[in-house]
Amino acid sequence: MSTQQTGAGGAAVVIGASIGGLLAARALAEHYGQVLLLERDTLPAAGGHRKGTPQSRHAHAVLVRGLAVIEGYFPGLTAALVAQGADYGDVSQNARWFHEGAHHRPAVSGHHAINVSRPLLEATVRARLRELPNVQLVDGCDVLGLLTTPDAARVSGVRVIRRRADSAEESLAADLVVDASGRGSRSAAWLEALGYARPVEDVVQIGVTYTSCEYRRRAEQRAGPVALIVAASPEQPRGGVLLSQEGDRWILTAAGYLGAQAPLTHAGLLEYVGGMAVPALYEVLKDAEPVSEPVAYKIPSNLRRRYERLARFPQGFLVFGDALCSFNPIYAQGMSVAALEAEALGACLEQGEDDLAQRFFAQAAAIIDPPWATAVGNDLRFPEVAGPRTAMTRLIAWYLGKLHHAAHHDAELSLAFLKVANLLEPPPSLLRPGIAWRVLRGNLWARRGTPPANAATPIPSRSPTR
Ligand SMILES: Cc1cc2nc3c(=O)[nH]c(=O)nc-3n(C[C@H](O)[C@H](O)[C@H](O)COP(=O)(O)OP(=O)(O)OC[C@H]3O[C@@H](n4cnc5c(N)ncnc54)[C@H](O)[C@@H]3O)c2cc1C
Repeated sequence: MSTQQTGAGGAAVVIGASIGGLLAARALAEHYGQVLLLERDTLPAAGGHRKGTPQSRHAHAVLVRGLAVIEGYFPGLTAALVAQGADYGDVSQNARWFHEGAHHRPAVSGHHAINVSRPLLEATVRARLRELPNVQLVDGCDVLGLLTTPDAARVSGVRVIRRRADSAEESLAADLVVDASGRGSRSAAWLEALGYARPVEDVVQIGVTYTSCEYRRRAEQRAGPVALIVAASPEQPRGGVLLSQEGDRWILTAAGYLGAQAPLTHAGLLEYVGGMAVPALYEVLKDAEPVSEPVAYKIPSNLRRRYERLARFPQGFLVFGDALCSFNPIYAQGMSVAALEAEALGACLEQGEDDLAQRFFAQAAAIIDPPWATAVGNDLRFPEVAGPRTAMTRLIAWYLGKLHHAAHHDAELSLAFLKVANLLEPPPSLLRPGIAWRVLRGNLWARRGTPPANAATPIPSRSPTR
């Protein structure tokens, strides 16, 4: 991917230098003479945690599709992360997926993902972005609001204040402002103050609490799976993931739906993990040495702001990433969706700046639709989660349960599920006749107590990824 400007020239400002802002800036760098990335936090030098991204203390998986886009923007990034200790493995063969009380039959999927801590990922992407000559990253800089033309038809820049003692408010002019300030974005309020309507919000309350802790990963564990995922279910609203991280660590994230919450003590967290539908994470961690204190994070809802439905929107302004849509993070979609939005932004700018917001929001909505359907559809399986349930959503929830049951023996079904989970295929691909037939066959066999043909296939052994 080149960094030549192909379109508008001029200056773009991005609000927020988390993963969304970094990827938006990367896309904009091909179209603007200057890209200014403004971040409220003082950014840590070597991948430490920071206030503006408290989620960095929790497991962050990069989906296959998202990693491909990020690697396309920053060739060699995956290898650089592996060189720093990250694991790169097959999403099926090197992982263990537990749904409906047992694990999916693994196989060689040919699709690879990376296990890396969120701080290292963000710092490495940030360092690569800083190499671009037309990108400037200013940290310790709080964006206070938008500047507009007198008729408020166009956003013409931002008002900022630097986080230092002697600073005064400044105005920065821009041809395009992109809000990547996350779920807490103030764009809706800014627009309202300018005389525009606020976007409608789709909200599905889930009351999920994450509790995370890091552990030492022993040398002999390197030969085993690099990721273990235990899905929560209405019967057992505790789920969790255990991912290898650089520095010979595991990160455990234990999730609880609808008020279920792990204690913030090492012993209590381990006991909570032992009470999941299967004790797979407990078995790995029971003798492991914790290397951090447990920390919690509350995720109240899936939240989607429908900017694509607004009849009026100012020129020179976009909303991006979690500011547009923040998902239940259990499905690990946020960063990958931001990567796809960056691609869409670049494609929109190839066509020029006319109606940019309308075109970008329409494309972003199409990107968000499938992962939103996955997240909300699955969350609505929990009877206490309020939301629109139709006969079709109930049927699909029932069917997915049957698919997971059959996937305990049928690796083809597991791979079909993993393609959807990794944004490589849309959710309706799971309804294709060949897949539906295998679901039916797998469940009939299970009722008769006869294993399907490939149930005897041994679990492939794994060669270490580094
Ligand atoms: C607990 C948790 C776990 C998650 N796990 C995963 C996962 O496994 N996989 C995955 O893909 N995604 C995951 N996500 C989602 C992922 O973190 C986000 O999708 C991703 O960071 C992209 O978000 P963003 O950059 O749009 O916003 P954010 O990450 O929220 O960043 C917003 C940035 O804007 C800055 N900012 C805010 N206001 C201002 C302002 N006024 N001026 C200047 N700067 C400002 C903030 O300091 C911050 O740096 C998880 C989220 C949470 C909460």
